Amino acid sequence: MPRVGIPRAMAYYYLYPFMHAFLTALGAEVVLSPPTTKGTLQKMDFCPTDEPCVAVKLLFAHVRELLDARVPYVFVPSLVSLERGNFCCPKFIGAPYMIRNALANGTTCLAPVIDLYHGRHDWQESFVEVAYRLGVTSRARVLQALKRAWAAQEAYVDLATAHRLTAPEAFACLTTGRPPARRGPTEGPAIGVIGHPYVLYDAVSLDLIRILKGYGPVITAEMIPPEAARAELQGILESERLWNFEAQILGAALYVLRRGLVERLVLVGSFECGPESVIESYVEQEAARLGVPFLLLTVDEHTAEAGLVTRVEAFMDVAPAERPAPQAAYPVPGPRRAFTRVGTPSMGYLEVALRAALADCGVESVKTPPAGQEIIRLGKEVSPEFICLPFIVTLGQMRWLLEHGVDCLLMVGGKGRCRLGWYAQMQEAILRRLGYDFQMVIIDSPLPLKQKWGAFRDALKFVTRDKSLYRIVRAIYFGYHKMSAIDEAERLCHWLRAFERERGTADRLFRRFLARVDRASEVETVRRLRDDFRRAVLAVEREDTDPVRVRIAGEIWVVLESSINFELERMLGRHPDPRVWVDREICATRWFDQHILHLKSAMERKREIVRAAAPYLGTEVGGHGLTTVGLAACAPREGIDGLIHLMPFTCMPEIVAQNILVRVSRDLDLPVLTLILTDQTGEAGLETRVEAFLDLLKERRRERGRPDPRRVRLTI
Ligand code: SF4
Repeated sequence: MPRVGIPRAMAYYYLYPFMHAFLTALGAEVVLSPPTTKGTLQKMDFCPTDEPCVAVKLLFAHVRELLDARVPYVFVPSLVSLERGNFCCPKFIGAPYMIRNALANGTTCLAPVIDLYHGRHDWQESFVEVAYRLGVTSRARVLQALKRAWAAQEAYVDLATAHRLTAPEAFACLTTGRPPARRGPTEGPAIGVIGHPYVLYDAVSLDLIRILKGYGPVITAEMIPPEAARAELQGILESERLWNFEAQILGAALYVLRRGLVERLVLVGSFECGPESVIESYVEQEAARLGVPFLLLTVDEHTAEAGLVTRVEAFMDVAPAERPAPQAAYPVPGPRRAFTRVGTPSMGYLEVALRAALADCGVESVKTPPAGQEIIRLGKEVSPEFICLPFIVTLGQMRWLLEHGVDCLLMVGGKGRCRLGWYAQMQEAILRRLGYDFQMVIIDSPLPLKQKWGAFRDALKFVTRDKSLYRIVRAIYFGYHKMSAIDEAERLCHWLRAFERERGTADRLFRRFLARVDRASEVETVRRLRDDFRRAVLAVEREDTDPVRVRIAGEIWVVLESSINFELERMLGRHPDPRVWVDREICATRWFDQHILHLKSAMERKREIVRAAAPYLGTEVGGHGLTTVGLAACAPREGIDGLIHLMPFTCMPEIVAQNILVRVSRDLDLPVLTLILTDQTGEAGLETRVEAFLDLLKERRRERGRPDPRRVRLTI
């Protein structure tokens, strides 16, 4: 039976019992990569991009260790969901795809999928396929092996929780089934050390557990029974939708805090960790509320031991004596009550449509300010570290709106694979802690209707002051018309900027059109303005400029928010040589057509993009991650010369996509420029990179000539 390698990173620290039992039940010889050493850290460069968190880079390094040891297969499961109703971090979902695309021969990566989200069992087929590749053809034997694997996993959890063992300690005695002889102090003030085991027990945390055990007994998240940890989350809105591992981490932290099991709490996160940026404020607030000294430690491959030890010593030396007085609990919102004006954060021109729909229901709203330095400052100063840029800017806009007469905020919700679904409730908690008094209306998708229609209807009824459903649907119809007219106009401008003889004509026409659409109060007017605009564009004098076609893809908010991406589309459109024809199909109308209206053409295009992505990424990783890979994969055959990939710093789905785009770009000979936006991004630097990218496209066009016009996918 072949040898199968398990990289000592990420899933290993949560599911080693499961993986080991499954593979050995099939008769495979399991080879574990050696613990992380300085040598392993050097193999992190096997990861094609620098953006992923240290956990993902360690996974690449440990896979490299196994390949260098000539292990024929590596086992990297895609962990989509380990529990009904919630997902794992997008990087756990995308891990095997990132690894496969980095391997010369992707087939050596065995990548079964675990997806318990809907409570179905079809994911088991992927394990049958893996077993088949290992020479096991009996389906019954595979299902039996899976049963043994889950049993081993449960035994591990029982062992760790019954004997308060760390994951490595419990793994060590899995074969014996007996707890190890107790090591380290059992008396003295206990310290809660909460974080992902793949960070805590890896060399990158510089033996933190041993250092803290020098002060007293240590309690870690895996020592707390999962059901007890989950029970602590009840006060948090939709906590059952929290990422699987984060639910255990947050629940365990609240459990040890509320039961006084620890005298201090250390939360250990990895640099750029997305889910951690969501849970850290809950842990910090509860520790403060209960007066327990709290330390947030962020580690990565560059963390220096001296600095870490100094911080721990400072924390351990001062905390007990200066224990702060317990603070009041979070201010919780009172019952719904009347409001005067509504405000909503922006995403491109979507707020024009939202204000129109509200006005059509007789609800006054305040225009949202673009994302300037003041807005970023208002958001940044109260946002968790490593939270993504859209959160920071939309929070800043909310503060500005609340300080300019708004007393009701409208924000999207909807828990999925990425952090967006947590924005609204985190922002509400932060704003209430700042003392703002307001109504928060969170709009989540009404689908599936059976479970979610009620909440959706109630939110719309409240924000429209109880208008009839007919009025609400009519208002949405009106807003939709404005939105789709603006999105079509932007596509026409992408085309016209590339060919207009008098530069800037498209921008002038669009500004005038946008102002008129914003003032329009009827659908008929919007239709007329739309037709007039199309006629005006087609009447503009043009020249044959042989433009290069540049596709823009990435995270929808930074793609659409021109005040954050430095008006990238205009920057490209006004470029002198080469002229640029921008292709951007991500837009609010397309999102609405796919997710709410399920329009035939929009669904067909979605399927086409998913098919194109399949050889590189076979599953949704949240946000627009899969779409980004698919839009890149179908770009060359659609006459696209290059792709600009826009993503906010730390965006999890796009970090997975960026990693995979390296392979897509190489395979399909498609130049890709990834622009990572933060609140510190400078326009000059960004423009210089865009310039260099366009020079490359121009050079390629000079060498290869014009693309076959039949390949050009017209989007106007
Ligand atoms: S982003 Fe955070 S949760 Fe996700 S893999 Fe990295 S460290 Fe783990």
